[in-house]
Amino acid sequence: MLDNIRIVLVQTFHPGNIGASARAMKTMGLTRLTLVNPRCFPDAEATRLAAGASDVIEGARVVASLEEAVSDCVQVVGASARLRSLPLPHFDEPGEMARAAIANAEQGPVALVFGRERYGLTNDEIRHCTHQVSIPANPDYGILNLSQAVQVLAHEVHGAWRRQTGNTASTASPTQGPLPTQQQLAYFHEHLQRVMEGSGFINQPHARTSDHLHALFARAQPNRKELSLLRGLLSALEAHLDPPS
Ligand code: SAH
Repeated sequence: MLDNIRIVLVQTFHPGNIGASARAMKTMGLTRLTLVNPRCFPDAEATRLAAGASDVIEGARVVASLEEAVSDCVQVVGASARLRSLPLPHFDEPGEMARAAIANAEQGPVALVFGRERYGLTNDEIRHCTHQVSIPANPDYGILNLSQAVQVLAHEVHGAWRRQTGNTASTASPTQGPLPTQQQLAYFHEHLQRVMEGSGFINQPHARTSDHLHALFARAQPNRKELSLLRGLLSALEAHLDPPS
């Protein structure tokens, strides 16, 4: 199950932080590392700070966008020290996030996404997440070093996994049936967008409305069957719309 937990580092500036994150991961049984546009990788400093986790560094996948890093995931959790304006479901307790991640990892890959050292994740990147998590810390100075944030969340995930494997009776997933991937959810949201525009509900793309709808479906966590029911409903409605002029 830990194989289905993926750590995603977005545009890391210091290669040493990539190495230290790999070490933090391996100590907690995590090995899947994806790097989105790292400034400098592969790099000797990354390998040096990875110490005994150089295999995690060697196996790291490098991709060009966060979308590409998470499109096959059933849950995407963005780690952020600051509360954002986006209305996504938010875990205030890393332990709760970890329990959900371990349960969802039975169905497919789950990504934990970490931002840049200087300015974290952009709002556009957070839009690719289904949830956010914050590590509660000193209100006067609560921003952890990137690899230390990876360590804290990896530790929580490892703890949730240990407790769950010790108690196999509770492995049932929170939703019934397999969860959709981010790509299937993206197709659904595109479809919803078309019907909203085609029906005149909105006249043009409206970021606020689509953020709220994304948050609503992230909270509801429809399974694949429910999502295809919604797609069917949208198609039926679409058939009654006037063709675009
Ligand atoms: N200056 C950036 C913080 C960068 S720290 C900002 O203000 O957003 C690098 C990354 O570590 C963050 O993007 C986040 O993913 C993670 N991180 C640091 N402190 C955290 C905290 N308290 N809770 C959750 N994630 C945190």
